[in-house]
Amino acid sequence: MKAHSSRKRVLIVGAGIVGLATAWNLTRRFPDLDLTILDKESGPALHQSGRNSGVVHSGIYYQSDSLKSRFCLRGNVLLREFCLRENIPLETCGKVIVAFGDDETARLRRLHDNNSHLVSCAMIGGEHLRELEPHCAGRAALHVPDAAVVDFGAVARRISEKLLRGGHAAIWNETVVGVEQSAAAQRIRCGSGRELTSDLIIFCGGLQADRLAVLAGLNPAVRILPFRGEYFRLNSRAAQLVNGLIYPAPDPALPFLGVHLHRLAGGGAECGPNAVLSFGRESYDANVLNMRDAASTFLFGGSWRLFKRHWRSGLDELRRSHDKARFVDSVRRLVPDIAAADLTPRTAGIRAQAVDKHGRLFNDFLILEQAGQIHVVNAPSPAATAACAIGEEIASRASQHLSA
Ligand SMILES: Cc1cc2nc3c(=O)[nH]c(=O)nc-3n(C[C@H](O)[C@H](O)[C@H](O)COP(=O)(O)OP(=O)(O)OC[C@H]3O[C@@H](n4cnc5c(N)ncnc54)[C@H](O)[C@@H]3O)c2cc1C
Repeated sequence: MKAHSSRKRVLIVGAGIVGLATAWNLTRRFPDLDLTILDKESGPALHQSGRNSGVVHSGIYYQSDSLKSRFCLRGNVLLREFCLRENIPLETCGKVIVAFGDDETARLRRLHDNNSHLVSCAMIGGEHLRELEPHCAGRAALHVPDAAVVDFGAVARRISEKLLRGGHAAIWNETVVGVEQSAAAQRIRCGSGRELTSDLIIFCGGLQADRLAVLAGLNPAVRILPFRGEYFRLNSRAAQLVNGLIYPAPDPALPFLGVHLHRLAGGGAECGPNAVLSFGRESYDANVLNMRDAASTFLFGGSWRLFKRHWRSGLDELRRSHDKARFVDSVRRLVPDIAAADLTPRTAGIRAQAVDKHGRLFNDFLILEQAGQIHVVNAPSPAATAACAIGEEIASRASQHLSA
């Protein structure tokens, strides 16, 4: 970091969209800050933030009193403003969440009733559904007209460029392996032996967030489990069958939204992601096993309790991952005219999902604090949509640390 001056020093660990949006908010709130962003990779957004569905969520899925709901609604507004200012394509294409039977229709109606005071949405019948998505099957749908798509990786890279142009520092290819606290300053140790001190450190480590919290002496009570999401790109024939975002009715017992079809901000369309427990937190190739990560998952009691509760859906996901025909069946349920030959695999993403020792999925964002440190421990979807609002919240908490 820069030579010590009277300027307050803030170090942000993690250059995903959450770390970068936090940095952006901090520099706007405290223009005189000496801010450094550090990541173990060679540039921004190389994990979750650059490997997702690109859906700008409207906030329809979340309990209205949750952080997810609050930050998604606010983050959506801030993200749109940022993209408009920065000329980053953000396409409002609308979403239909599709129901096939009475049970699914009732579930969608509950989502509608719980959130229609916050999010513009309407229950529609099959005829109206076909006007919006002529190739979509389904008896009814929940229509969310404001849902949009954007390239979150592009948003993160733009923030990073702006920070660097504004005179702030970025350190790449350094992995935090130790965190020390004293009354005077916070210190991190990197794998290379390099040490950095700061007045405040903000950890936004995504898939490694629980480990960073433990390194700092916190006991976060949750473990991050990695769930790989595989995608297929649609060829131009199949992409024409999709006008916006086509989602299945979500299973209320699971945090993932199900395999869906979505347009891309730069043109074209994709389908995915499934949700398969991964043998490595960053093992994007399904055949690569990371011993440390696998041990961390399988030696954790919460994982086994989670498997016991969800073994049937876990097995289905595994089968769907190994058998393209099953994956295609999930897609064809939504748009029957799509065929296996229309789909080409694209790189997978891996979601960081916090699970407690009882095997319960931690369903909200989780931010922990101790003197001189703020840790974003759980920031799963819709954290890319919500990032600017999470950043706003952390900047406001940071001001208390910096004035202490
Ligand atoms: C398959 C998939 C689909 C998704 N779809 C959507 C969607 O459509 N809409 C939406 O809003 N959200 C979506 N999400 C969620 C969203 O992408 C994530 O919630 C968000 O990107 C999290 O950002 P982050 O900055 O917390 O984490 P990340 O982007 O993972 O960044 C964390 C960073 O920390 C760095 N790091 C970790 N440990 C260390 C260390 N020890 N030292 C130094 N650096 C470290 C990593 O290298 C990484 O760059 C999806 C996620 C996935 C995986």
